[in-house]
Amino acid sequence: MIHRNTYIDAPAVLEPSFETRRRPGLFFAGQISGVEGYVESAASGLVAGIGAAQRARGLAPPEFPCESALGALGRYVARSEPRGYQPTNFAFGLLPELSSPVRNKARRRALLTERALESIDRFRCGQATDEGNSAERAESALSAQT
Ligand SMILES: Cc1cc2nc3c(=O)[nH]c(=O)nc-3n(C[C@H](O)[C@H](O)[C@H](O)COP(=O)(O)OP(=O)(O)OC[C@H]3O[C@@H](n4cnc5c(N)ncnc54)[C@H](O)[C@@H]3O)c2cc1C
Repeated sequence: MIHRNTYIDAPAVLEPSFETRRRPGLFFAGQISGVEGYVESAASGLVAGIGAAQRARGLAPPEFPCESALGALGRYVARSEPRGYQPTNFAFGLLPELSSPVRNKARRRALLTERALESIDRFRCGQATDEGNSAERAESALSAQT
């Protein structure tokens, strides 16, 4: 089915965090950001929302790992060739290749999925550590003032 899709010139405008390059703190999400589909629109909203929350706390938006679907989608949107850019649904082809090629498609996809989940787990651990560190920094800054 062909349907209307109105979107910004994402590769010229956005970072993989769905934040605009020229105006930090301004994010796009959903179909207008240059993604296609229900899940991808929601995914871009998740990434943009987390980035906006970070900005509100005076921090940079996090970089989602490129091995994950969220990171790969952001990179596709922001780093594609602007000329002739077309929104896409998520596809395994957006992910970086495995270090050793696997010919069996089902096995390859299973490995890519496993790697994606591991990368998100590591990312979440890193975020938790960063939050802990920034809470510690804020606490020590406060105690230095008092
Ligand atoms: C016919 C059709 C079939 C599709 N089938 C599929 C499918 O099978 N699978 C799939 O993954 N995707 C499908 N899509 C694509 C999918 O619908 C979109 O990618 C997705 O809904 C985009 O989500 P969104 O939240 O970005 O935008 P939308 O779902 O379009 O939401 C935008 C909202 O903003 C509101 N709005 C607009 N302007 C204003 C304004 N000025 N003030 C306040 N509110 C405003 C609109 O009323 C709307 O509720 C289909 C699309 C169409 C048109």
